[in-house]
Amino acid sequence: MNHYRYVATPEEVLGILNRETVSDHLILSKNEPDLIKKMASSICHIAADFDGTITAGSQWVEIQNFLPTTLLNEEHQDRDWYYDQTSGVSNVKTDMSDPDWLHGHLMFGNQTAVEGAWVARSFARYIQANLTDVHVKMAGKAVVMRQGAVELFELMNQRVVITFGVEQIIKAFLEENKIHASVAATRLTFDKDGFINGYNRNVVVSATKAAAANRFHKLVGDPPHFFLSIGDSIVDIEMMPENGFNVLIMPPGEANKKLAAFRRNHLATMFNKLTMILVSDSLLPLVDLIRQARA
Ligand SMILES: [Mg+2]
Repeated sequence: MNHYRYVATPEEVLGILNRETVSDHLILSKNEPDLIKKMASSICHIAADFDGTITAGSQWVEIQNFLPTTLLNEEHQDRDWYYDQTSGVSNVKTDMSDPDWLHGHLMFGNQTAVEGAWVARSFARYIQANLTDVHVKMAGKAVVMRQGAVELFELMNQRVVITFGVEQIIKAFLEENKIHASVAATRLTFDKDGFINGYNRNVVVSATKAAAANRFHKLVGDPPHFFLSIGDSIVDIEMMPENGFNVLIMPPGEANKKLAAFRRNHLATMFNKLTMILVSDSLLPLVDLIRQARA
């Protein structure tokens, strides 16, 4: 297997990515190539993240294109606050004289609530901006697919996309790209004229991806080693079962940035869950690996 590097520790992953320029693709794994191939031969179901994993773009960017500037700025403020908090940038020392000692901080244990509120705030803005089912469909069709996504899904029997996102946007994307898959994402509701007027109570956010994945695994009913789980960030680790075929995709240009965030968030624990790290802009190396393993 070309393009393969054995890595025993998360630190080795960082070392290789700092040293090497990846021109095509690179597979990093603590498993030897023969074992990866053997494991890949039993995969027949897929649970995939959406933004950055099966796409090279973002559903949120596309839907936000339809917002007026004032509402778009509010969206960016919410996003920036969340990213600052989750990446530790805003870990400032505070005491009880600070009026924002509570509200200014994303606290351990409150992330699910914060993420739920975040999407609720976004949807309120969509309602305020009179967005309709037409905008939602246009956003889904505009998201750029990652190379190899169609081929990867075609290799699988049971397929699901699990995303901190909007069900109808994902469905429009899947239809546009002729991919058949179920979707775990937050479902918007529309009035009789097509205007967004609310959303289903079963909100899907980063912190609840595991719940959606668990339900998928349970309903399909096969053992973990039949499942491919693939994502591009720390939050996707939650949807990867122990003993599953778990893949982290990292586009080379973003490799260092992602790994830096990865390390901060207890890389060691997550590293153990990963079957391989695919450093690539394309999913085709994974498609080839599965095809060769089945041959
Ligand atoms: Mg993602």
